[in-house]
Amino acid sequence: MHYPILNFIFFATSSFSEKVFRVNVEDENQVSLLHELASTTQIDFWKPDSVAQIKPLSTVDFRVKAEDIFTVEDFLERNELQYEVLINNLRLVLEGQFDSQVRATGHSYEKYNAWETIEAWTQQVTTENPDLISRSAIGTTFEGRTMYLLKVGKTGPNKPAIFMDCGFHAREWISPAFCQWFVREAIRTYGREIHMTELLNKLDFYVLPVFNIDGYIYTWTKNRMWRKTRSTQAGTSCIGTDPNRNFDAGWCKVGASRKPCDDTYCGPAAESEKETKALANFIRSNLSSIKAYLTIHSYSQMMLYPYSYDYKLTENNAELNALAKAAVRELATLHGTKYTYGPGATTIYPAAGGSDDWAYDQGIKYAFTFELRDKGRYGFVLPESQIRPTCEETMLAIKHVAAYVLEHPY
Ligand SMILES: [Zn+2]
Repeated sequence: MHYPILNFIFFATSSFSEKVFRVNVEDENQVSLLHELASTTQIDFWKPDSVAQIKPLSTVDFRVKAEDIFTVEDFLERNELQYEVLINNLRLVLEGQFDSQVRATGHSYEKYNAWETIEAWTQQVTTENPDLISRSAIGTTFEGRTMYLLKVGKTGPNKPAIFMDCGFHAREWISPAFCQWFVREAIRTYGREIHMTELLNKLDFYVLPVFNIDGYIYTWTKNRMWRKTRSTQAGTSCIGTDPNRNFDAGWCKVGASRKPCDDTYCGPAAESEKETKALANFIRSNLSSIKAYLTIHSYSQMMLYPYSYDYKLTENNAELNALAKAAVRELATLHGTKYTYGPGATTIYPAAGGSDDWAYDQGIKYAFTFELRDKGRYGFVLPESQIRPTCEETMLAIKHVAAYVLEHPY
């Protein structure tokens, strides 16, 4: 039996998808309008991270559920807000993210790998490269998973170290892909390429491939757009804390929310998250060797340094600025990808509780947050075909920073 009308309805609703909008915000009045819109409609902010961080003369990217699209478009038009549709059909873009031509069923550096695959890879890469890599565990996640840390470098006494983590925010998939790529390049080019060889002879890299493992798994199994950890707490049914608002650096003072349901929730206390505590404890116990802290996020193509929790400048602001400028210049040489750079508070927006600010205040003079590709064409759903170019260009910036750190001991 056929039900042509039902078929038609099914077709109409299934072709009707979530969209990502970009609004150009000119003044405070328009900021208020977006607050109004966000209070009446469920909106997922992509950039900035929350409605509270919207400022005049900026662009705002957000995802809207299918059933709210007419309401949102009507609101934007009625109030004469200038906007464009960044992603017209998010479902199609989500399907298109797995566009890698690499045919691999297991781990691949040019594909997004599920956590179980990455976990097995940390073991394999360690076993296969015993002279260069060792693996340790720095703690467990809320759901009980082991947080593996790779130490990459030639064994030697009293070596300075650079700490790098990926996968703070669950949906930023290009980030863990970069940490894996970095390890691959270290193995592949050590002994063949003079700069990498020197770096690994004189420095150790601590690489944490996925910080927010529980959240990352959730983006693979339940909700691709999940951002936070997966911790629960008494008094609320909302889940998760924003790990990059959970560090003890001006904790929850600005650009963070005290509401557990919000995407920028700072948690019930600084270091409330097991993941935050594990990372902070590791860095605290290795402060004598760790000379730089690098944390990899996406998207927007930026290289940021402290502070984000305050507009104050760091003591070595001029040096950080010059180093970031040189690193993004290096990065651009490969594919012409343009990055902006500067202190977090003025370059994006003030946000307290970030890991880079915290690391800096622990005495790590070189602390940077990278926001990798792109600038919003795909946002968090960067196609796999961009893993290679993104990682290749980012390597240039990371190697530049590492070489600088090596030449400027402290
Ligand atoms: Zn992020």
